[in-house]
This record gives sequence, C-alpha cells and structure tokens, in this order.
Amino acid sequence: MSQASVVAAGKVVTIHYTLTLDDGRVVDSSMGRDPLEYLHGARNLVPGLERELTGRNVGDAFDVAVEAMDGYGMPDPAAVQTVPRGAFPPDAQLEVGMTFQARDENDRTMMGTIRALVADQVTVDFNHPLAGERLNFAIVITAVRESTAQERTHGHVHAHGHDH
Ligand code: ZN
Repeated sequence: MSQASVVAAGKVVTIHYTLTLDDGRVVDSSMGRDPLEYLHGARNLVPGLERELTGRNVGDAFDVAVEAMDGYGMPDPAAVQTVPRGAFPPDAQLEVGMTFQARDENDRTMMGTIRALVADQVTVDFNHPLAGERLNFAIVITAVRESTAQERTHGHVHAHGHDH
C-alpha cells in the first residue's frame, strides 16, 4: 500500500461513520447520505477519533470506542443554569428536552438544552449534548487525498459547493 493512501496530518480523508452511544442509541450516521470528508490533523473530529484514524488506510473498516475525555469532554456543572421564563420569547413553546440556540458573551452560537421547567424558572444546560458520553464509532475509510495549500491554511476541506 502506498503512502498516498495512509491517513496522516494534511490529508483529506473521506469516511462513512455511525456513532452509537452505550445505551444503543444511534445519534449520527453518514449511512444513506454522502460520506464525511475532513482535513486530518486540523481538529475537525473529536481528538480520540482523529488519533485512531492516524496511520489507517483506504478501505479500512473498524470500530472504536472513544472515552468522553477524548470525545466531547465531561459535563461542566457551571454550564447548567436556571433563568427566568422571560429570558425566552413569549411565544416559544418550551418543553423539557428541547434544544435551542443562544449566543455567549463573545457572540458565539451555543446549543442549550432545557432540563427542567418549574413555575417561572427554566433550567438550561449549555454542555455539549454528548458531553460525558463514550462514543462508539463504526468507521469505513473510503478515500484519502492530498489537501491543497488553501485547505491547509483554512484548516478545513473545500468540497463541492464550499464557497467563501
Ligand atoms: Zn476555507
């Protein structure tokens, strides 16, 4: 097998993946749609998965369990907050378990999940929904190519239709 097909930093790697949690829930999968194309070594994947892909070849199929610390990290108790109902638009239909987008003090988008609704108080959780979870990936590597200089500068893949 030539070096050209080996996963390494700076390669653009195409994978099919299925992500299953320990309780058997499939939370994400590329099956039935286009595979994921990403720039290896640019932190576009969770660290544990990127590490497991390093050195693999086109055609490799494998399962890997990524511990939470190498995945989306452990939940931070400080990221769970109770806010007044009035912090949400009056017409929003709030339900336990629903997710919503908010902006932090640096104007970055973050995802929140409603954990509890008691009287006029809403408990919201800004941890990543997969924080604290072991991530069980089934991976198939379908392609590996060299990245362009521009892709390396930007730190991501320029696929068909990527425009900026
Ligand atoms: Zn770019």
